[in-house]
Amino acid sequence: MKVRDIGTHCPLCGRAFARFPSNEEHIFPQWLQRHHDLWNRKLNIPNFIGKRYSSVKIDICMRCNGKTFGDLEARIAPLLTSADPFAAAAILGDEELAIWLGKIFWLLIRKSHSVVDYRTRDLPQSDRIVPVEMLPGTLFLGMIERAFATRKGFVSCYSTDPPIPEFFYDEPFSLYRFRIDTRDDRFERFDFMDNPMTLSMGFRNDNLGIVCLFDGGLHRRFRGPWYDFLCGQALHPVQFSEVAARMIYDQTVLHEDAQQVTYYWNPGLKAVVAQSHTPRGFNPYMAEHHDPARLASLIARVTSHDPAQILRPNGGVVSCLHDSEGKFLRFATTEAELAAARADPNQVVFGPAHSDWRVREHGPKKDG
Ligand SMILES: [Zn+2]
Repeated sequence: MKVRDIGTHCPLCGRAFARFPSNEEHIFPQWLQRHHDLWNRKLNIPNFIGKRYSSVKIDICMRCNGKTFGDLEARIAPLLTSADPFAAAAILGDEELAIWLGKIFWLLIRKSHSVVDYRTRDLPQSDRIVPVEMLPGTLFLGMIERAFATRKGFVSCYSTDPPIPEFFYDEPFSLYRFRIDTRDDRFERFDFMDNPMTLSMGFRNDNLGIVCLFDGGLHRRFRGPWYDFLCGQALHPVQFSEVAARMIYDQTVLHEDAQQVTYYWNPGLKAVVAQSHTPRGFNPYMAEHHDPARLASLIARVTSHDPAQILRPNGGVVSCLHDSEGKFLRFATTEAELAAARADPNQVVFGPAHSDWRVREHGPKKDG
């Protein structure tokens, strides 16, 4: 796939604007901005800090906008703006959600790639905000969106799969849905986090939280079980942020070969096949790449804490997700719950600014 200039070609389907008329579109859909009153709010995702949601736009061809992605949007919008988006979205397939979220993520990547970084603007060779070297890695997502835009399939498989491995084809992403506990009204009802380096993102919309990793399905297969204890629980927004940070972190310990993909075209299926360079049976999440300081800094960033609070002097990383038995720990919000947490020697309650964040230091749930 050629990455063409977003000034002349549609960033989704690749068609030339000269032949296919285009419109300037909001990267964050207008119905979503309206629903959460985002218009004049500023994004706090790294490449767009200080930009208003309503100003983040990009040209898209009218075929993508009106038809292909428009149909998807029309299906998703009423569900996500309903009274209970978690339940309403149950009728949506993971693929629909991944493609829709991936579209926002990909357009943000393309948009930031086209913006010259003000810090290096005066240097002879200025850097783009998303460095050029990073774009090939993010192309995996671009390929997924391109395939959908041109009505092709996109699947993934492993290096050891037999030559015609249709039986083994997997979804090319790992998507997790969480029910969010929305009772704590000190928190916004919307959040968006992205990490282009690992092609991972988090999205929180009222009581529905989604983490989606565009990883060929590796996370789901090898790391998913670690998160099973969250199944059926309602996560506080801070807990959801921690889960997203941990999943993003997981993608930083991958074996190098697991980040390499060879693409094939399967004419019978009309699908792009992305074959990972690691064997199906090989767990590519490498214990030797584990770095507690990096994990602590990722959690700290998304939960607005000091990394020094998250990384304990003994090298442990605090978590607000589980109790001393490794079971899900309900987030303390009431005074009584906070008092109980303070009285528990196994828990750390940050204070006074973060007295609402209840955590415990170590659990049977080991990292890595
Ligand atoms: Zn298009």
